[in-house]
Amino acid sequence: MASQRKKIPTILTADELLNKAFHRAVKITKTGDDRMDGKKRTAHARFNASGDIITGTLDKYVRSFPSMEKREDFMMELVHLLVDMDRLKKSLGAINWASHTVKDMTSDFIRKSKNSQKQDQLERIRKEYYGRVSSVIHQVQDDLKHISFARDQLKRLPTIETDVPTVVIAGYPNVGKSQLVDRISTAKPKIASYPFTTKGITIGHFKEGWRTFQVVDTPGLLDRDFESRNDIEKQAILALKYLADLIVFVIDPSETSGYKMEQQMSLLESVKQNFSGIKIIEVENKIDLTRTDSDRMKMSALTGEGVDEVMKAINAELLQSKKGLVESQPLTKG
Ligand code: GDP
Repeated sequence: MASQRKKIPTILTADELLNKAFHRAVKITKTGDDRMDGKKRTAHARFNASGDIITGTLDKYVRSFPSMEKREDFMMELVHLLVDMDRLKKSLGAINWASHTVKDMTSDFIRKSKNSQKQDQLERIRKEYYGRVSSVIHQVQDDLKHISFARDQLKRLPTIETDVPTVVIAGYPNVGKSQLVDRISTAKPKIASYPFTTKGITIGHFKEGWRTFQVVDTPGLLDRDFESRNDIEKQAILALKYLADLIVFVIDPSETSGYKMEQQMSLLESVKQNFSGIKIIEVENKIDLTRTDSDRMKMSALTGEGVDEVMKAINAELLQSKKGLVESQPLTKG
């Protein structure tokens, strides 16, 4: 959703929007051939200005929300967990209606005022315009409140690029996941806040040739038993399958993390079950402390031993991902 993740502007309340539109408009004055002509030109300019501000603002709100139709995308799945999408769709529809209605009204009232001959008639038309526009905007005041709430929810989501090939790191706490993310990221990984856990999600990047890959550690999601999850957490975990091209499952055979191998194997099994179809590289970490004779990959994220081999295996898998290929490929001329 990187491209869909447009910045949603602050949403004004109905009264704030009306004040903004009418206050700006009232500052406009125009001169004309005579007094009445000047009044008419001023009225038209004010109708136009308030109409433009209102429709421009409402249209910007509607456009700034991500498309609701796209599923099978990590960020969109999370959006669906946080926001009542049917309600949001209805509100955006109502706001769109208000925008069109104000637009049509503005043209109507400009036409009406063109035909007016007297000042008091023009004044009546002006008042009627403001009254009618206010009424339309007040009709959607709850919708404006609702999209403002949805905006606050969406702002809590981390900025994760979903069109970049991504490796998701899993394993119990203290097995060495963040140490691994630090080691393989070219720049210091960013920590983004995340509505599904109190801990931040860690996002790093690295390059292989001309392609950039992403590495993500999701503390609180893939680091304990699935059975103990609430529904929202379960769905957030499942959303990860749209993000992950590859999972690296970090195991700590030294058990200095505080988790027995048996527990770690059982978490590995649930990750396998929940992410069937996604390649999982199993890595035993902390070989500086304990080295088993299993045929898994082995490394020490602390000393760096074996990390290059793990990195090669990660690159080999991610290079097969089709994500980001279309946008990133250089265009050939001719
Ligand atoms: P996470 O909770 O899985 O992200 O684990 P961390 O990366 O924070 O590591 C937990 C602790 O284990 C830290 O004190 C690390 O320094 C230590 N650690 C990580 N990798 C290794 C390793 O390969 N060998 C040793 N001896 N300690 C490690």
